Amino acid sequence: MTERKGIAQYLSSFFDQCFTLGDDGIPEFKMLIGGQWVESSGGLQIVDSPYDGSIVARVQNGTLEDVEKAMQWVSGEGKKIRDIPAIDRILIFQKARDLLKEHKEEIARALVLEGGKTIRAARGEVDATAQRLMLTMEEARKIYGDYIPGDWSEDTVGKMGLAIREPEGAVAAISPFNYPLYIASAKIIPALLSGNSVIAKPASDDPVALLLFARVLQEAGIPAGSLNVVTGPGGKLGDAIVSDERINMVTFTGSTDVGIHVNNVMGMKKRHLELGGKGMAIVLKDADIDLAARKVVEGNLSNAGQRCDAIATVLVENEIADELISKIVENEKKWIVGDPMDQKTDMGPLINESAAKRVEELVRDALQRGAKLALGGHRNGCYFEPTVLVDVPLDARIVNEETFGPVLVVIRVKDETEALEIAKKPKYGLDSCVFTNNFYSMWRVAKSLDVGEVTINDNPKHGVGYFPFGGKKLSGLGREGIGYSIDEMTHLKTIVFSLEPGGLGKRRVFQG
Ligand code: NAP
Repeated sequence: MTERKGIAQYLSSFFDQCFTLGDDGIPEFKMLIGGQWVESSGGLQIVDSPYDGSIVARVQNGTLEDVEKAMQWVSGEGKKIRDIPAIDRILIFQKARDLLKEHKEEIARALVLEGGKTIRAARGEVDATAQRLMLTMEEARKIYGDYIPGDWSEDTVGKMGLAIREPEGAVAAISPFNYPLYIASAKIIPALLSGNSVIAKPASDDPVALLLFARVLQEAGIPAGSLNVVTGPGGKLGDAIVSDERINMVTFTGSTDVGIHVNNVMGMKKRHLELGGKGMAIVLKDADIDLAARKVVEGNLSNAGQRCDAIATVLVENEIADELISKIVENEKKWIVGDPMDQKTDMGPLINESAAKRVEELVRDALQRGAKLALGGHRNGCYFEPTVLVDVPLDARIVNEETFGPVLVVIRVKDETEALEIAKKPKYGLDSCVFTNNFYSMWRVAKSLDVGEVTINDNPKHGVGYFPFGGKKLSGLGREGIGYSIDEMTHLKTIVFSLEPGGLGKRRVFQG
């Protein structure tokens, strides 16, 4: 018998139907289309570990024919999910939550191998997905609508209206590499629970976790074709998926460049776009400096800085700048960088070498323009050291472009007004935070920033989406969150009843 290698070594027989073993023991995952695990005629794509470059899985290199098959299911049989009584949909998802918890460790280890995420963070991602399942089930019970009596308006006396909430229909869910399980599930769970069918396309760097989650949902009892997962290159498959007229809604999370492209090619469809960010931390002179230093470092280094809500830039008032910088450096040095499978590791590699090289280029550009290095600055394969750049000139690329790596840019400012001017410059508007103990400063900064979310005295965290989040400017359209995602994936249909034929309409008694 072939020895199981890569991700297969951690998977129980529960996942056997999703893959076959290659001659080298590496699992070759299939795609879920129409309730069946199927292979593509397009061959296989390699999934490798950013930790050591080893092949950990192969997935189908999906073709346009596969997209067409999935499209027929998602727009045909798969739509029957809306006819299942909502209470039964809840029961299916309760089972899914139990199965997810049962297989937590297997999925967490897959996340570590394919994405270089630390094991602690990977377990946290599975837990967050289970939480999301539970909270969305609670929220789905509130999908009602409105009763609108007509007799409050001259125009509608004798009628009544019901505005009922209906699923959008067929939803295309395209997800990024940085939280490959959680972000994909944050689209799929509210979509299915509110009665939509889904075609999902994970990122090619780490698509396995979503395939494992699809197996969980399949076993829990979702109807065949209501969730279809197609793997393969986004550039080739993405356009075909989002522009297809059978798709009613596109929910996309990824970079701003691809998001703009998706927005342009999808045509007339409902859309939800969660794109890039450039998180700012404004630290005012009355702030608790120890707290600010600790929170800023955590906000910068978690998931190796590969978070849309990561803190990328600190704008600190001159009077406390030196003290804050030295405390930031002190905190960053405590982070253990290493093997992501090791329980002690705080930070692993970036997703691939080209991502690490891009961060290296941004750092080099800042240094060439006069920034100073307070810590780190070096790349080793896919790893980039925790890095602090100080006194970075405003024209440096790293001040304006998304970093998506463990590099903190510190800029000294003379006051709150200057901090706000700089914070508003980047084209992004996702998350920012302010550290201060003055209520009026908190309020002024929160009201002034042109972003979707401002956090006071902590780093921004989207977490399980309990608070709504989403972008302004080029950071996106729409709002993500437990109930907010359900709102995005449903629409109001108005049904007007004329009561007059039954003699139930009211007659006007006052002609004013
Ligand atoms: P990406 O390169 O934009 O890819 C995102 C997804 O889009 C992947 O599944 C990709 O597939 C697919 N794709 C590529 N070209 C496409 C096309 N023409 N049509 C449709 N889909 C296409 O982003 P990423 O590098 O995976 O993720 C990092 C980015 O996501 C960052 O900018 C980050 O800020 C953003 N993000 C935002 C949020 C938020 O809530 N605002 C949350 C997380 C991440 P392939 O992998 O096969 O190319």
